[in-house]
Amino acid sequence: MVSRVIPVDAFDLVIFGSTGDLARRKILPGLFRRFQSGQMPDSARVIGAARGDLTDESFRALAATAIAEFVPKARQDDAVIGQFLEKLSYVTIDASGEGGWPALKARMRDGVVRAFYFSVAPALFGDLAERLHLHGIADSASRIVVEKPFGRDLQSARALNSVLAKHFTEAQIYRIDHYLGKETVQNLMAVRFANILFEPLWKSEYIDHVQITVAETVGVQGRGAYYDKSGAMRDMVQNHMMQLLCLIAMEPPYHFDPNAVRDEKLKVIRALQPVGPQDIVRGQYLKAGGEGGYLDHSGNPASRTESYIALKVQVANWRWQGTPFYLRTGKRLRARASEIAITFKEPPHSIFDDAQGWRENVLVIRLQPDEGMNLMVMIKEPGPGGMRLMQVPLDMSFAEALGDEAEDVPDAYERLIMDVIRGNQTLFMRGDEVEAAWAWTDPIIAAWENRGDRPQGYDPGSSGPEDALMLMHKDGRRWREIKG
Ligand code: NAP
Repeated sequence: MVSRVIPVDAFDLVIFGSTGDLARRKILPGLFRRFQSGQMPDSARVIGAARGDLTDESFRALAATAIAEFVPKARQDDAVIGQFLEKLSYVTIDASGEGGWPALKARMRDGVVRAFYFSVAPALFGDLAERLHLHGIADSASRIVVEKPFGRDLQSARALNSVLAKHFTEAQIYRIDHYLGKETVQNLMAVRFANILFEPLWKSEYIDHVQITVAETVGVQGRGAYYDKSGAMRDMVQNHMMQLLCLIAMEPPYHFDPNAVRDEKLKVIRALQPVGPQDIVRGQYLKAGGEGGYLDHSGNPASRTESYIALKVQVANWRWQGTPFYLRTGKRLRARASEIAITFKEPPHSIFDDAQGWRENVLVIRLQPDEGMNLMVMIKEPGPGGMRLMQVPLDMSFAEALGDEAEDVPDAYERLIMDVIRGNQTLFMRGDEVEAAWAWTDPIIAAWENRGDRPQGYDPGSSGPEDALMLMHKDGRRWREIKG
C-alpha cells in the first residue's frame, strides 16, 4: 500500500513555549517527521519563542536533541535533520512583556500561512493574543493553536473563549485535543460512515453498552501539584473521553466538514444526562512496595482529588435510550491501554444453547498501545466435534495492514499541526463544545465536593477500586480486562 503525502502550503509557524516539555517531546519531533515525509514544504519556517535567551543556533541544538530523543532511531537521518534545522529560528519574547515583538514581526513573511502555537500556560493566552494583534503580527487569516487545559470549569473556559475572541474569530482558533488526531479515532468515523455494515446496527436496539477505558500505569509524580487541582474528571473525562463518546454517539453529519461534525458532537454533549453519586466511583492509588501513593505524590496529605474515575453515562436521545456508556480512566493501573469497546446484544432468538459457547459480538477500537480495530464474531469451532461455537477477532490492526508503512503513520500532534496549516478544523474542539462539556461536568464535580466525598483507595497495578466493579456488576455486566 502506498500512502499519499500531499504537501501543505508554505507557512510561518511560531511556537510560543518552544523550549518547554510539549515542544521538545511532541511539536518539534512531529514537525521533523512531517518534513521528512515530504509534507512540509521547503519554504516552511518554524520560529521558536520563549523568555529564555537563546540564539538561532542554540534553539537548533535544542531541537536536534529533541529529535535525537523522541524520534525513533531508524528514522534519524543526519542530512535530513540538518535540512530541517535550517528552517528553525528563535526570538526571545516574554508573552506579557513588550520586548521581542518587533523582532518577531520582522521574521514573518507575507503570502504564507501564519500560525501561532500557544504552547504555554493558559494564563498567558490573553497576553499573546493581545500582543499579536497590537503589533500587527496576526492578520485575519492567521491561526492560533491552544493547548489543554481549556479552563477548569465553565466560568474559566468562557473567560478564555472571550479573551481569544477579542482578537480572533472562531474559524481562526484551533483547540487541540490530541485524542482526535489519533489514527484509530478518525478511523472510527470512516468505519461508521463509509460502510453500510455498521450504521444500521448503531443504536440501542442492537448495542447493549459501550465501554471507554483510558488506563495508565504511571502515577502523578512530577506533576502532582498541578494534577491535584485537576483530577481525572477534569484531566481526562471532560475532554478526551467526552470526545471519544461523541464520535461513537453522534448522528451522521451531512458532510465531513468541520462545522457539520462539530454540530453533531455538540448535540451529544447537550444530551448527556446528569450523573448521580450511584453512578460514579472515584479512587486514589495507595502506597505499595516502598513507592509513594497518590497522597505522597500530590504533596497534599488531605487531598480528595481522584486519580481514578468510573462513570455510567446516559445519552438521552432516541438512538441511545437504554444503552449506557461506561467510562473509566485512572493512573497506576495494571496496564497502559486505551480502548473503546462496543458490545452488541444477543440475537433475538438463538438456535444454539449456552453450552455451545455463544458470546456477544464486540467491536474493539484500540487507541494504545497498538492502534487498530477488532470485531469479535462467532464462528464454528473447526473440526469434527459437533457444532461448538468460538469467538474470533476480525483483525483490522494497522501494523499488519500497513506493513512497513505503519511506522510512517503520523502521530496525533503531527497530523493536527498539518491540519492547522491546511485550515481544517474538523479535529479541533469548537468553543461551544468545550463550554457544553464543562456545563455537564461542573455540577457532577460540585456535588461530590459539597458532599465532601473521599475517593476510595486502590492498589497500584490493579484495575481500580473495588466499587468500580460493582458499577457494572449491578447492571449484570463486566468491565473488560485491562491489557497492555
Ligand atoms: P513547560 O515545560 O513548563 O514549558 C513552558 C514553555 O513556556 C517554556 O518554553 C517557557 O520558556 C515558556 N514560557 C513560560 N512563561 C513564558 C512567558 N511569560 N512568555 C513566553 N514564554 C514563556 O510546559 P509544557 O509542558 O511544554 O506545556 C505547555 C502547554 O501545553 C501548557 O498549557 C500545558 O498545559 C499544555 N500541555 C502540555 C502537555 C505536555 O505533555 N507537556 C500535554 C498537554 C498539554 P521560558 O521559561 O524560557 O519562557
